[in-house]
Amino acid sequence: MTQGKTSAEVVIVGGGIAGCAVAYYLTTLGVKSIVVERESIASAASGFAQGGLYLMSGAGLDGPLFPFATESVRLHHELYPLLKEETGLDTLLGSKSVLAAAFDDVDVGALHARHTWQTERGFTSNWLDEKAVRELEPGIGPEVIGALVTEDTWVLESDVLTKAFMQAAEKHGAEFRIGNVEGLEWDGDRVTGVRLSDGAISCPSVVLALGPWSAHLKEWIGVDVPVQPIKGEILRLRSKTPPVTPHLAWHDSYMVKKPDGLLWTGTTEDEAGFDRDPTESGAQRIMEGAARIFPAIADAVIEVHTACLRPVTPDNTPIVGAVPGKQGVYIATGGGRKGILSGPAIGKSVADIVVHGKTDLPAEPLGLDRFMNG
Ligand SMILES: Cc1cc2nc3c(=O)[nH]c(=O)nc-3n(C[C@H](O)[C@H](O)[C@H](O)COP(=O)(O)OP(=O)(O)OC[C@H]3O[C@@H](n4cnc5c(N)ncnc54)[C@H](O)[C@@H]3O)c2cc1C
Repeated sequence: MTQGKTSAEVVIVGGGIAGCAVAYYLTTLGVKSIVVERESIASAASGFAQGGLYLMSGAGLDGPLFPFATESVRLHHELYPLLKEETGLDTLLGSKSVLAAAFDDVDVGALHARHTWQTERGFTSNWLDEKAVRELEPGIGPEVIGALVTEDTWVLESDVLTKAFMQAAEKHGAEFRIGNVEGLEWDGDRVTGVRLSDGAISCPSVVLALGPWSAHLKEWIGVDVPVQPIKGEILRLRSKTPPVTPHLAWHDSYMVKKPDGLLWTGTTEDEAGFDRDPTESGAQRIMEGAARIFPAIADAVIEVHTACLRPVTPDNTPIVGAVPGKQGVYIATGGGRKGILSGPAIGKSVADIVVHGKTDLPAEPLGLDRFMNG
């Protein structure tokens, strides 16, 4: 039989950023939840992400993700001092400029288009020709022919943020429990509880925040939740001759100076099911790409090599809100490549919807129904 309480106002399945953010925002509305996580808080992608809050580029931002993620950045700034005061944990939220390099004319075209897109949305960015790039970053690779530099992009420590959400929630009455949830309990279409491997917790509301494992939810709720695990690896490198620039980017890859003194370099994107093991071939691909942009990196030492899974939806936009046709069942998933960026908005919008049935955040287009109508 499961230890502790056998009932709760809300049970949240999953202790990643999505689940912990929902637990935190529920406490701000006076609701105490139980978060059930089978490993530990931030043990999956939320504990190993690079932590960039990149609104200025990436898949999905031409759609409803942009206003949602913009609100999330506002919430990140609001949360930073609050969570530090509540928990003593510092997520080290800080700004950097990002230098995105071009290797050929196709890259130049794409970065010029990005420059226009960013300017229209109020970002500050500048195009540098080859000479200006080399003056700024003398160690840049010989193939680089220009770069777009975007100012004031934000980055933080994703593991610390996830733990801070949970600790702040616990301070206000939420509970964390290790457990493997195996399914839901029902009275018709109304949820009545969650079934764990060692017992059950009865509850009128359940939030499903299983990250990439949301792909299995059809077995629980009878509705397909189109989330796919996309594996990503990162190397944390120690270099005696690091770049001057705090953040180099090229195509979908990056080399970022982090507060641990290491250069976080990545990443890969592989369809590998639920496999979370770092691979030799992943490390090799990362090092080859990094040496193209910054050749001196070839002498760096690999201190840490991580792999984890992004929960990616077909439109690269999260899934939040009530599950149509079911009573008391809510979803908080699909952060994809930007789940740390979107985490606060996922947490707040789902908490609002659980308690009030609606939210002021622009989450209306993010419902599961968008994949059910046709
Ligand atoms: C290499 C890499 C770099 C990234 N960099 C960034 C970045 O710079 N910026 C950004 O915004 N995003 C980034 N992301 C994306 C981000 O990490 C994810 O979108 C986000 O962490 C997803 O959070 P989540 O809470 O939805 O899922 P997860 O963190 O995967 O958490 C889900 C949790 O649910 C638990 N769980 C699952 N099933 C059960 C069950 N049956 N019972 C109990 N518990 C269960 C799991 O154990 C897990 O802990 C990156 C991802 C990767 C892979």
